[in-house]
Amino acid sequence: MEKLKQRILQAGKSLPGGILKVDSFLNHQLDPNLMMDIARAFATKLDGKPINKIVTIEASGIAPAVMLGYVMQLPVVFVKKKVPKTLDNFYIRDVHSFTKDRTYTVSISADYLTPEDHIVFIDDFLAYGNAARGIIDLCAQSGSTIEAMGFVIEKAFQGGGDELRKEGYDVISLATVERLEEGKIYLK
Ligand code: 5GP
Repeated sequence: MEKLKQRILQAGKSLPGGILKVDSFLNHQLDPNLMMDIARAFATKLDGKPINKIVTIEASGIAPAVMLGYVMQLPVVFVKKKVPKTLDNFYIRDVHSFTKDRTYTVSISADYLTPEDHIVFIDDFLAYGNAARGIIDLCAQSGSTIEAMGFVIEKAFQGGGDELRKEGYDVISLATVERLEEGKIYLK
């Protein structure tokens, strides 16, 4: 997606440890017009798939996911990064975050992820694929089906996307970072 790529090159900052900072439009301040374009680009790529629900993970996946929900007129549910007070009726799973270097428990209510659901998982970044693995596991626990996964930005050099594609998942990325160097961003 050309507009997104231009924005990453203009406003993105390459940080040590393979981290891309895009706080001015995706991870802190949000640009609703760009977010709507992102949603439309996802919707075009997802056209024809039997999706009835959008699943994301808090916090930064929510903005693109809810815009996509609006465009596709589908409900959006976000996986919470906390342990529910009672485990009754919840699916949980541990996910490692390499940007924060910690493991946290994510949860989703069985009310909002069911065997009838055919979902697309939307997130801001795809790096090693740990968040995606968490979602795959929650969907397996609930008996729901993953039709596709859509990421605003994929960092190809961290390998998560290749592994997921090899396993047969339909992985969509709107911008792909080939490599990050100090002060430089190389996009595909
Ligand atoms: P993964 O689980 O694929 O290893 O990493 C994806 C998750 O980590 C995303 O939900 C995102 O919040 C965070 N993340 C990974 N890499 C980056 C990055 O370069 N920049 C930012 N802002 N977040 C990242």
